[in-house]
Amino acid sequence: MNIKVLDTTLRDGEQTPGVSLTPSEKLRIANKLDEIGVDFIEAGSAITSEGERDSIKEITKQNYNSEILSFSRPLIGDIDYCLECDVDAVNLVVPTSDLHIKAKLKTSHDKLLDLSNDAVDYCKDHGLIVELSAEDASRSDLDFLKKVYNNAVDHNVDRICVCDTVGILTPDSAYELFNELSYIDVPISCHCHNDFGLAVANTLSAIKGGASEIHTTINGIGERAGNTSFEECVVSIDRLFPQFSTDIQINEIYDISKLVARLTGVYIQPNKAIVGENAFAHESGIHSDGIIKNSATYEPMTPELVGRKRKFIIGKHMGTHGLNNRLKELGLEVNDSQLHQICDNIKVLADKGKTVTDVDLQVIADNVLEINHEDRIKLDEVTIVSGNKVMPTASVKITIDDEQILNAGVGLGPVDAAINAIKSLDVFKDIDLIEYHVDSITGGTDAFIDVIIKLQKADKVVSARGTESDIINASVKAYIAGVNRLLAD
Ligand code: MN
Repeated sequence: MNIKVLDTTLRDGEQTPGVSLTPSEKLRIANKLDEIGVDFIEAGSAITSEGERDSIKEITKQNYNSEILSFSRPLIGDIDYCLECDVDAVNLVVPTSDLHIKAKLKTSHDKLLDLSNDAVDYCKDHGLIVELSAEDASRSDLDFLKKVYNNAVDHNVDRICVCDTVGILTPDSAYELFNELSYIDVPISCHCHNDFGLAVANTLSAIKGGASEIHTTINGIGERAGNTSFEECVVSIDRLFPQFSTDIQINEIYDISKLVARLTGVYIQPNKAIVGENAFAHESGIHSDGIIKNSATYEPMTPELVGRKRKFIIGKHMGTHGLNNRLKELGLEVNDSQLHQICDNIKVLADKGKTVTDVDLQVIADNVLEINHEDRIKLDEVTIVSGNKVMPTASVKITIDDEQILNAGVGLGPVDAAINAIKSLDVFKDIDLIEYHVDSITGGTDAFIDVIIKLQKADKVVSARGTESDIINASVKAYIAGVNRLLAD
């Protein structure tokens, strides 16, 4: 059975604390959602603001294949704003639990039914497709919930949705609830929240119980612990449930995940399924050896399936097979004794409790192979003005391919100012700082500072370290080492 996907990254996802997207950012995400085959895009909530309406209008102008919806309460005023935005459909959200009806709306069951029926009629009279979402459905009285849905079907609603608003369903109760509602003869959709980390599992159970549509957000962003993660749910359907399918182009999943992470500023945990940085990374020697012989030994799917590449991580668990592979990726051919020498040197560093970065590996390999590696970029000078009354300002003097360049930058703090002064130069554009981590090696204020960063250029990620008694020097050193590594290939 084909499962439809409604993505609500632009509505529920944008309700993530601290996230706010501009109309052009929303448009970029919507373009990608349409491109990868999302059936329905919830573009926002038209009642919210003028700016929100502008961004919904921008999206409805695009003639996407995807159906475009706006969130709406069952109120004429809300629906009129949706009509003004020229959406195809509304996600009409009607609270159905006693808690919401009595505590929030201070109304009665009968009045709520009237409100819901009138809103559906008004939408249908104005040519809108209507998906009626019962808010807090999972904590609603089942008979009343059915009454709301039955009424909506009598009033020609197009689809209905069960919202697990506070994420309290379990895979068993989700299956039972959807099974109980499967007599309804319009498509049933499932909107789950991840308060107990069960959103994806519950959504998959809902499908088995009879749901034919799922609500998701990219990277699972959303209020509190977020919503059902698009990538986890869609790839699970594809790989683990042969009786179901979606029309999503799975090999584009990593791209859209990165786009949303970058535009929202909500970064992805490294161990997140499918899209986390470690999802296809291997360090252990036994695993790496197995993977190289046959990738199915330690991977349930190939990274290419979701638009990614496999990575072998350098560390003390790494065997010579994985290491040799990593060196080949760096363009280095080594013989057996050189390979063992590099492996031993890595273990010495790792045994001191250090993370072995890509730049460390390069340096170790260069030393063993006696290669003189010319860095394209050298730091000559960095000067900082900082204090509690001035905006932190940095000036830097660096040499790029033998040409000395001076530049300045400001930032929220001195490290930020120094990095800004460097990265505003042309040669650094397209390079993103995706991780920044500081450790002090000894205890006091005179401690050595160990800065480890990760930089990304297109789909290439490198890690680098700077160790200095000064946090700014350590940060700049790590940054430049990483950039040299990225520019070396
Ligand atoms: Mn929600």
